[in-house]
Amino acid sequence: AKVTRLGPSPTGFIHLGNLYGAFVDERLARQSGGVFMLRIEDTDEKRKVEGSVEIIISSLKYFGLNFDEGALLDGEKGNYGPYYQSNRGPIYQCVAKHLMEQGKAYPCFCTEEELEEIRNQQNEANVNTGYYGKWARDRELDIEEVQIHLNNGDEFVIRVKSNGTEEGIFEIEDAIRGKLSIHENYQDAVLLKNNGIPTYHFAHVVDDHFMRVTHVIRGEEWLSTLPIHYEIFNAIGWQHPVYCHTAHLMKMDNGSKRKLSKRKDPELGLGYYMDLGYHPAAVREYLLTILNSNYEEWRIENPDSPIDNFKFSLDKMSNSGALFDLDKLNNISKDVLLKIPADEIYEFLLNWSKGHKVEITEILESNKEAVIKLLSVGRDGDKPRKDLMYCEQIFDFISYFFDEHFKIVDSYPENINDEEAKKLLKLYLHTYDHNDDQSQWFDKIRVISQENGYAAKPKDYKKNPDMYKGHVGDVSSVIRLAIVGRSSSPDVWEIQQIMGEEKVRRRIENIIK
Ligand code: GLU
Repeated sequence: AKVTRLGPSPTGFIHLGNLYGAFVDERLARQSGGVFMLRIEDTDEKRKVEGSVEIIISSLKYFGLNFDEGALLDGEKGNYGPYYQSNRGPIYQCVAKHLMEQGKAYPCFCTEEELEEIRNQQNEANVNTGYYGKWARDRELDIEEVQIHLNNGDEFVIRVKSNGTEEGIFEIEDAIRGKLSIHENYQDAVLLKNNGIPTYHFAHVVDDHFMRVTHVIRGEEWLSTLPIHYEIFNAIGWQHPVYCHTAHLMKMDNGSKRKLSKRKDPELGLGYYMDLGYHPAAVREYLLTILNSNYEEWRIENPDSPIDNFKFSLDKMSNSGALFDLDKLNNISKDVLLKIPADEIYEFLLNWSKGHKVEITEILESNKEAVIKLLSVGRDGDKPRKDLMYCEQIFDFISYFFDEHFKIVDSYPENINDEEAKKLLKLYLHTYDHNDDQSQWFDKIRVISQENGYAAKPKDYKKNPDMYKGHVGDVSSVIRLAIVGRSSSPDVWEIQQIMGEEKVRRRIENIIK
């Protein structure tokens, strides 16, 4: 069984990278009957933002990820807490003390200025280790010297005594990248800062060990400091977990790939998807396509199988930056929504409106039946329409139904001016019978078209070009625009049936009056 954890800092911002990693965590835990846990890495007071933990938990929950253990909303759950690093101070202190007793860690009293001085000397000598070896001034202080500093009230940090490797190269193994040789960024890394607070390096080592984490999934920005983490595990004498460094999410920008950025790309934040009302199943589906290279193939073979049946594996992950493509997500979203019954989409839309667009909640509630029908138009048949992507767009898509939201957003076909359109609409209204079935209705449009020059090109068309003004489709477009306000929509006859006679007549009368 695999034990995985998400270790976010409570900064108030949760992004796709977090979701991507959490997804891997969750899959590994679920597939092995293990544990997926939430640990809050809140040692940095300055970055803490009130309410972050709620945002993290509720966002992940939205996308179907639920923790088994850790810092949960109704309190901490599990036997390996506390799950907030800020409550684990004594644990870090205790491990640091243990290391000092064994001579594997030591207090360092260097001031900022003294460290700067050491760095300058290293620059001159062309040495690029950090505080290490002969450059580590306080490494071998004896107990009397330490006592003098303490009596002076000098501030100190606790550093680990790194062993380094002879060649300065660390051989490591990453679960998706395989064997790697990393230049050791060797230094006696700080374990506890002068205020007694642990560094990330130390805290996560201690926590992952005591929380019996087996697999650490995290961003590739941590790869370069992995040797420090190995050093700390080695010094304490613990076995390190399996590490898996995921590549950054990239996007195409002007023909070249670049990292998604918080500043430039709103789609990086998870809030983006919740605000627009993406269906979690769609986002999950899309994430799997970028997470595992064999997923799309599996999906084609198993179109209706739940995601849980797919066997996710680390070795099908890409170690170069996965390309995040919003258009592809939108396309997947259309496919996913097509499989969800219209009444469920309605409930999803209604629920979304309550948190994100309260001004439409009431009209959705009072028009439940009609909305479900509108969402159903064109979904069946050999060529089902795939129009629905996310709530904001879904509402926009059906908004024509509501008089207070109805707008004419497109224009008539180029060959038809306003006057001509009015003429055609008058004829339409004149022959309109709400009880016509679809073929009777269309026959009438055909007649209007033929009688007004919108039919197949006549034989003598070249001699008499005025005879041909356009096509039946142009006439239907005029009618569609009058009723739906746009030049493309599902079947107009069906929409009219849902709208009811009065509303249809009113829309047309408004134009021809
Ligand atoms: N607190 C770290 C971060 O926010 C977590 C890194 C890890 O998962 O080890 O990036």
